[in-house]
Amino acid sequence: MAELPRAVRQAMPLAREVAVEVAKQYGVCIRPVPLKRLDVDTGRWEVVDVPCGATLDAKCPSCAKRNRQLRMAQCREGWHLDHEPTITPNDPNDEQRWLVEFRADLQARRDQAAALGEDTADWDAAVKGVDAEINEAGMRGNVLGRTVPKRTRSTRRRQDAPNLPKRRMSPTTLGRTFTSSDGKVYRPSLFVTLTLPSYGKVRDGVPVDPETYDYARAARDALHFAKLVDRFVQNLRRVAGYDVQYFATVEPQKRFAPHLHMAIRGTLPRAEVKQIAAATYHQVWWPPVDKVVFDGDHFPVWQDDTGYLDPATGEVLPTWDQALDQLDADEDAEPLAVLRFGDQVDVKGVLAGTPDADQCIRYLSKYLTKSLGDSLDAGDRAQREHAARMVEALHYEPCSPRCPNWLRYGVQPKDAKPGMAPGQCRSKAHKPDHLGYAGRRVLVSRKWSNKTLAEHKQDRRAWVLQALGQPNEPTDPHRYIWKPVPAGDANVSPLAVRLLRSVAERQRWRAHMAQLQAQAGGQDLPATEEAAA
Ligand SMILES: [Zn+2]
Ligand SMILES: [Zn+2]
Repeated sequence: MAELPRAVRQAMPLAREVAVEVAKQYGVCIRPVPLKRLDVDTGRWEVVDVPCGATLDAKCPSCAKRNRQLRMAQCREGWHLDHEPTITPNDPNDEQRWLVEFRADLQARRDQAAALGEDTADWDAAVKGVDAEINEAGMRGNVLGRTVPKRTRSTRRRQDAPNLPKRRMSPTTLGRTFTSSDGKVYRPSLFVTLTLPSYGKVRDGVPVDPETYDYARAARDALHFAKLVDRFVQNLRRVAGYDVQYFATVEPQKRFAPHLHMAIRGTLPRAEVKQIAAATYHQVWWPPVDKVVFDGDHFPVWQDDTGYLDPATGEVLPTWDQALDQLDADEDAEPLAVLRFGDQVDVKGVLAGTPDADQCIRYLSKYLTKSLGDSLDAGDRAQREHAARMVEALHYEPCSPRCPNWLRYGVQPKDAKPGMAPGQCRSKAHKPDHLGYAGRRVLVSRKWSNKTLAEHKQDRRAWVLQALGQPNEPTDPHRYIWKPVPAGDANVSPLAVRLLRSVAERQRWRAHMAQLQAQAGGQDLPATEEAAA
């Protein structure tokens, strides 16, 4: 690079920015992950760029947009099914295979560290992270087929089913049909919107009086929102009397509370859905957090083989399980929180194939490319301050049994390890991007459609290949071996080069698709951009 003229050198960072802009315009991933791939048939290694959105956790706008389109296709596919889906486990695709191999590699290193008597905490965390990725990639369960033993709780603590009508279960996932007098069969479905309750008067998404706005409750509700949704589905199924399937998205309201849009297959009377929402609640049976035990410089300290103890008294803090036992034994104990939905419940009947259904699907996926904490009115100071107060409320709120914040309230977090400190939890739940809700943004029941998202992607690819007159032979899953690329690997070209290469490829696709479209008279060919994904 030394022999390049100075002017050219100075222009180089700019070239990279331009490449990123061009890539965005063409819907190309701007944060590709390079992976090394060995083709077993040819014995050749090559570096392949995998789009950042391949693991469904898109980090760039192009992948976010593409994943949104896939989600819309998935939603459309299951909403008005007229036959039972057949659920079969899928063959692992390349990406899943790579994750499994990567995990095996991590496990080996972890076991090696354990054999040497080293601390395995980091390895364990890495293995857990990859397990989560594998699940995201569409495989069910974890690689070892291990299930976490469930803690048996006293019956008193069980969440009782609320007082709701209950129909006999029939073994179907399909809703009722209605036949009109002229013999036409209708298959109505539902579109439901659920919100959380009020925490104080709000104007333009901002509390009128921040002093009285219940930030603590807003924070807690956001943290446990996913559980409340689970309860709603359980109750819905009980009342409906069939195995109700749903496709739902969690989106931010302007006041930053998560709310839920849900496409439901089949129909119930509107009043009944509202009754179910009103009766649904979730109790959080966690130790109390109303008393701060450790604050300021007074922190519990870690002692090997013992756990966290009070440095002043030497008293060992109760472990997570002990704290839960105490809670069970206490007849007067109250749940840490009881969650309920707000009064604002919207229920709408939707018929398959109507413009109405399409509009709902667009609405359902509207915010999928945004993070929960993305201010909907970014320039607004009042909203930024509101978000900051929300983050503050979340700072010491325990987000999970493993949250280091438990130490503040005198309890050892589950799986406590050295180096934990209250207020230093690294979970997404505490971050401004998430504002308490760290769960999945899209919730799809298992029997929604016949396909996983990975299979929807495969469909699209197959269609494009067919349209191009190329064979879509299933790739032999044993053909490739994937390896991560170490940082600074000389085989990886600069980002700008890689992006422009992808753009060129995308242009070739587009030209070819346009030609095919012209031949087909513009009929029945979906937008080239999403097809070329
Ligand atoms: Zn991307
Ligand atoms: Zn936490």
